[in-house]
Amino acid sequence: MSSYQPPSASGSPRFCNMGNFMRLPKAENAKGLDFAIVGIPFDTAASFRAGARFGPNGIRNISAMIKPNNVAMGVNIMDELKGADLGDVPVIPDYIHETYTAIEEVLTGVLNEGAVPISFGGDHAVTLGELRAVHKKHGKVALVHFDSHLDLCDTVFGQKYNHGTPFRRAMEEGLIDPSHSIQIGMRGSLYDPDDFKIAAELGFKVIPGDELHKMTPEELAEEIIKRVGDMKVFLTFDIDFIDPAYAPGTGTPEVGGFTSYEALQYIRNIKDLSFVGFDVVEVAPPYDHSEITAYMAANLAFEFMSILAYQKKKK
Ligand code: MN
Ligand code: MN
Repeated sequence: MSSYQPPSASGSPRFCNMGNFMRLPKAENAKGLDFAIVGIPFDTAASFRAGARFGPNGIRNISAMIKPNNVAMGVNIMDELKGADLGDVPVIPDYIHETYTAIEEVLTGVLNEGAVPISFGGDHAVTLGELRAVHKKHGKVALVHFDSHLDLCDTVFGQKYNHGTPFRRAMEEGLIDPSHSIQIGMRGSLYDPDDFKIAAELGFKVIPGDELHKMTPEELAEEIIKRVGDMKVFLTFDIDFIDPAYAPGTGTPEVGGFTSYEALQYIRNIKDLSFVGFDVVEVAPPYDHSEITAYMAANLAFEFMSILAYQKKKK
């Protein structure tokens, strides 16, 4: 039999490995790389709309639009950095613990090569698997979390592992230090009006959307930098932080959010933090229009890559 057979969809989900981010080379591992793109197309921990399993490839497809020069940051990322797309983690729909093991394995491989993982969800549950790998390499990290939701529930549907619980679990597992972590942009209707209070009791700092709307990007950066201190940082960006007018393609949208330009400014202003990983999650292409949500996510990854390039250039 010819070895040129397509992989069986019962072994590898058929939405895996369709293309490369920014038309970067494809690589088997992160050897010699500064950053590695990893797709994590797992969405069966989403509480409302599913569809983020198509997020990584939605982002990859439209990322062909992005050019290597970030003029605002004064860098050409490809002059400074070596990066490649490692394809997708072999997720198993519905099987979250097996998927966590797979995420941890792939990201551990990336981190052990000294590369920074840039991951595309998937729903926000995937970040717990990423943080487990990051913790093994770097110890406890500070979390900088952009989202319209806290994702600090103890359980959802009576379950401990869901896209509404990852940061509660990450805290319990000692992967992140709440006292140096910050959650930004939370808004929308709630079941429990005391959610922000609960976050504070757990030790997190929250900047609700209403507060952020009154702040400049520089003021936000100041708050983040003060909070993080000298710790290494994992930056997680739930695309529903952005207003649904700019990012409709997501599972649990909340109105009253932030513009695409504001989001770029927020990221650019924290360019001096010690980042050890990044993800952008909850992009659900079936609910997107004109690929605007996927394009936003691709640009957020580009801004993060630009920070890595800026830091390398400065050295
Ligand atoms: Mn989230
Ligand atoms: Mn969210």
